[in-house]
Amino acid sequence: MDSNDGGKTPTVESEILNNEKLQIRLKGCEHNLVLLQIEQNAIWKLLSESYAFLNANCDHEWSRENQLYSPLQCSKCGVKK
Ligand SMILES: [Zn+2]
Repeated sequence: MDSNDGGKTPTVESEILNNEKLQIRLKGCEHNLVLLQIEQNAIWKLLSESYAFLNANCDHEWSRENQLYSPLQCSKCGVKK
């Protein structure tokens, strides 16, 4: 391929632009990851509170799966102990 292949062969100038675009995309990804981590932490906190409520208020029916060392689990609410 030579340089007349429809612009697919990069030049230093085009690669600098491509590099800058990739860095902007990466920053966008990293920003979204931070937002997702914040949302994940908030959901974990809500789930923890939900399990605490269920643990305290459910009329549990404990059962154990047929695996060695598997924890007791309430068949109604899913809380384990
Ligand atoms: Zn329960």
